[in-house]
Amino acid sequence: MRRRIAIVGGGLAGIAAALKLADADCQPIIIETRKILGGRATSFVDPRSGEVIDNCQHVLMGCCTNLIDLYDRLGVLDKIDWHRKLYWTHSHGEIDCVKASRLPAPFHLALSFARMGLLQKNERKQIQRAMWRMIRLGAKGRLSWAGRTFSEFLADTEQTESTIAKFWNTVITSACNLGVDRVSAAHAIQVFQEGFLANRWSYTMGLASVPLVELYQSVGEALKEAGGEIHLGRPARAIAYDGRRVTGVVTGDGVIEAAAVISAVPFDRLDKLISDTMRAADARLASLDRFEFSPILGVHLWFDQPIMELPHLILPGRGVQWLFNKGIDEQGRQYIHAVISAADEWMKLDEDEIIDRVVQDIHSAMPKSVGLKPIQARSIKEKRATFAATPQVEQWRPSASAGYVGVSGGGIENLFLAGDWCDTGWPATMEGAVRSGYAAAAAITGGDGLIEDVPPGRFARWLGLL
Ligand SMILES: Cc1cc2nc3c(=O)[nH]c(=O)nc-3n(C[C@H](O)[C@H](O)[C@H](O)COP(=O)(O)OP(=O)(O)OC[C@H]3O[C@@H](n4cnc5c(N)ncnc54)[C@H](O)[C@@H]3O)c2cc1C
Repeated sequence: MRRRIAIVGGGLAGIAAALKLADADCQPIIIETRKILGGRATSFVDPRSGEVIDNCQHVLMGCCTNLIDLYDRLGVLDKIDWHRKLYWTHSHGEIDCVKASRLPAPFHLALSFARMGLLQKNERKQIQRAMWRMIRLGAKGRLSWAGRTFSEFLADTEQTESTIAKFWNTVITSACNLGVDRVSAAHAIQVFQEGFLANRWSYTMGLASVPLVELYQSVGEALKEAGGEIHLGRPARAIAYDGRRVTGVVTGDGVIEAAAVISAVPFDRLDKLISDTMRAADARLASLDRFEFSPILGVHLWFDQPIMELPHLILPGRGVQWLFNKGIDEQGRQYIHAVISAADEWMKLDEDEIIDRVVQDIHSAMPKSVGLKPIQARSIKEKRATFAATPQVEQWRPSASAGYVGVSGGGIENLFLAGDWCDTGWPATMEGAVRSGYAAAAAITGGDGLIEDVPPGRFARWLGLL
């Protein structure tokens, strides 16, 4: 008999856990409120345009080894386009192209950074100084920054306001969904160490060439052999608990019994599924109300003529951080997607104000578009986009298996936790979600379950980077 494991939530964490459990001869049962899989990384039919659009552009990087493994299992790796050139705008539509030179890591991007027209000579020197500090800190050294903000690290390495606005805040706001003044220094340093310095591949940017929901089409098939089930449109109301162990998941259509339960929902949802008795029994559940959200705004715009040739564009120091070229349709209409991370200020704006501001940023980045207005637009506010990766949050992020971060034992032994907010060592990302799902499945079946990181280059390792 296969062990029946109930998984609450069919986002990336839940999907990842289910696939790993199926491999280990368990019977995974996904219980998902919505009628589609993918959670925060998915698509929907826009009633205004009738088009299938993603809630927001999702970017992965070469260092997302677990997410890449998941796509590989689902047979959709060929639906990810890899970009080795990162385009930055600066004055009046001029473009800097950042790409790896022939130099070994950690210096592969150094030439590109040194040539960026966006930066003054003294600003480039400041960036070199901070990068060098990050190289020498290594992975262990960055932990000494865990309780501080990245702003403190930037002050310590004497970065000026303009360098912070143009460079550091632009990268970190997109990568961590929090500005440099709030984000944990350890997370921000990790982005540079692992994403831009450790090896020549990790910075490469992956973009799905199809709507995100299409990436999950084969999940049902992949679970079939293990007798897996996917219950869509079936919200969990509670996790059943007998005072010692969890026994299943309560839904409107009855209880789904299981030998173990993986919660793969965000912290606020989990908080609604557990009783006070459970909260008291498991220290992992005690701090769910301490997490905060950081919002993201995605804006979809259609222009009646082509205005963007590059695949994407980074807009340093502007409200919009990133523009993505989503293609030109048969009628010659250009579809562009704008992303605003850490979008707290934008949440109070109405759609017209949002579109006005975004269009101003588009005009500034692409002078050819000045005077043109979108013929159609749609903004999507995700107020609960990710947890806020502040310096405090690490102490509350729970591990997959019973016990608590840093404290072993205790807890409900057959309740496992997954989701991008769990203790994965990663910020709230698709990669973090998949890691958490793999880790939760491995906690049930034994073993580590994670895919190895991209190894650091020889020279980077010699310098003590990782
Ligand atoms: C706008 C936006 C842009 C982003 N951009 C990026 C990016 O560029 N790169 C990147 O790596 N990451 C990005 N992220 C983050 C990424 O989407 C998430 O980290 C990841 O998808 C989280 O997956 P998860 O499985 O942990 O949670 P979720 O995706 O939230 O999945 C949880 C699932 O549980 C379901 N659920 C909730 N309550 C219940 C219940 N009671 N019963 C049953 N089911 C329930 C939900 O419907 C959902 O499907 C972005 C997120 C947003 C919102």
